Amino acid sequence: MLAGNWKMNKTPSEAQSFANLLVNELVGIKSFDIYVAPPFTALDRVREVISSSNIKLAAQNMYYEDSGAFTGEVSAKMLKDLNVEAVIIGHSERRKIFGETDELINKKIKKALNEGLTPIFCIGETLEERQKGLTFCVVEKQVREGFYGLSREEAIKVVIAYEPVWAIGTGVVATPWQAQEVHAFLRKLLSEMYDTEVAQKIRILYGGSVTPENWFGLFVQKDIDGALVGGASLKESFIELARIMERVISK
Ligand code: PEP
Repeated sequence: MLAGNWKMNKTPSEAQSFANLLVNELVGIKSFDIYVAPPFTALDRVREVISSSNIKLAAQNMYYEDSGAFTGEVSAKMLKDLNVEAVIIGHSERRKIFGETDELINKKIKKALNEGLTPIFCIGETLEERQKGLTFCVVEKQVREGFYGLSREEAIKVVIAYEPVWAIGTGVVATPWQAQEVHAFLRKLLSEMYDTEVAQKIRILYGGSVTPENWFGLFVQKDIDGALVGGASLKESFIELARIMERVISK
């Protein structure tokens, strides 16, 4: 799976024309899922452009209530009505800038699943936590709390995005070994929490300064099932990332 997180970039018209380019360039790719996550304001325009393509629509956030006095929030039902199929939940920017907790993130994951949306659940340690040797401890807590109360059938539908905070938007990418080590740890953790089938089926994406230059080395790792991409998803490099995946998968 390749997912582009456009963050707070692109006006609806810019998003529309970029989506057009992606539809034309990525036509025919069927061996993995491609998602784009534009800002809320561009979802409808992008939906129109990608409607009969192989590109799927994702949102960058949602709230867990259906409706009501929650100024500035958007519900899962609203997203579903726009043909949104997946939603990024618990991105480190939402955790850090907007104070999202593991408990809130768990509520959002449950709501997304109840409404038939695929949660792209983000986890990852800060630089300080890594330097203190706390990486496994931090991601384990995030996963246990994020998956709290999920049945195995629900768990299988969640996509995990391992995004070390020190690698997001910094240009400092995790080495293939650093990423693979955490992905393998997550796989083992999921098999302890559920079973090996669940652990194998859950897609675990890597995110953090992915570019066409570093993506091959990461994607060929055993436990890396794709990427959640920020900066490189805003331009033609997203197309190159998809082509790299196609080449690796077809070998
Ligand atoms: C992200 O925000 O999910 C991300 C991975 O960003 P970037 O690729 O720019 O590091």
